[in-house]
Amino acid sequence: MAYLIEAQDLVRLYPGVRAVDGISFGVEMGQCYGLLGPNGAGKTTTLELLEGIQTPTSGAVRFKGRPLDRTYAEAIGIQFQATALQEFQTVGESLGMFASFYRHMADRDELIRLCNLGDILDRDTRKLSGGQRQRLLLAVALVNDPELVFLDEPTTGLDPQARRNFWGLIEMVRRRGTTVLLTTHYMEEAERLCDRIAIVDHGRMIAEGSPAELVRAHFPARVIRLADSGWPEGTPLPDGALKGNGEIELYAEDVPEMLAELERIGADLTALRIATPNLEDLFLKLTGHALRT
Ligand code: ATP
Repeated sequence: MAYLIEAQDLVRLYPGVRAVDGISFGVEMGQCYGLLGPNGAGKTTTLELLEGIQTPTSGAVRFKGRPLDRTYAEAIGIQFQATALQEFQTVGESLGMFASFYRHMADRDELIRLCNLGDILDRDTRKLSGGQRQRLLLAVALVNDPELVFLDEPTTGLDPQARRNFWGLIEMVRRRGTTVLLTTHYMEEAERLCDRIAIVDHGRMIAEGSPAELVRAHFPARVIRLADSGWPEGTPLPDGALKGNGEIELYAEDVPEMLAELERIGADLTALRIATPNLEDLFLKLTGHALRT
């Protein structure tokens, strides 16, 4: 398989911390690949190793099958978690300044349309809302028309509406053929945007695949939750059931069969809920802790 970018057994040590502890994966051209994990999992450090901003303690990054070289910076775009924008500049001026750093540049009008900046081109960059600022930073990341764009937690801090709008932009970026590598701790974001994800915790990858595949590989079709006070005394929990936070969680391939069984043993079904397992459930199952910490 020819990858556009590949991480080969990346390790990055800081004094007393194994920030990245042996991470390997590959991203194919045109894919949206997500690194999903809680704060401190090692996502940003992994991204910085792939961006060529940091050097791995060991392991390697390959772009189009070759080690990173001086031309790499022209081929990629980066939306950092926090980028300081020049003060006393308008959105339009800011875009122009970042474009001047590159030899090759995206079509300015198209970029403005894509990132929906038309109405705020003359606005001072200090006066932008969170969503507007992220749209400008996305445009900055795309200003050199990169083949591969890195987005580090692009929607953290945005309200739900602005987050959804931003997802729409990322989908448009993908439709133009740009490969996307993003980090997030929102499982909904990963499920909506990513073809493949790596779940990262404590610097290690604990699962990798398409979101649906991963969930399906680890769970039956449905999760049934009921109050643990409603469980009949003296009846053992079925294999694989979890108990905690006042709830009992059961897994079922066949929901009617499970409900019939619960009725038969006399469980109280008043507060029963049926859910489709998602990445949040998977993360909890694999690590024993929640994704958002
Ligand atoms: P977040 O979601 O909060 O951005 P993350 O998953 O991106 O977290 P990293 O920022 O990569 O995680 O950090 C991984 C670990 O490495 C953390 O324990 C962090 O404290 C540590 N770390 C990161 N940068 C440094 C540094 N420059 N010096 C020492 N430790 C660091």
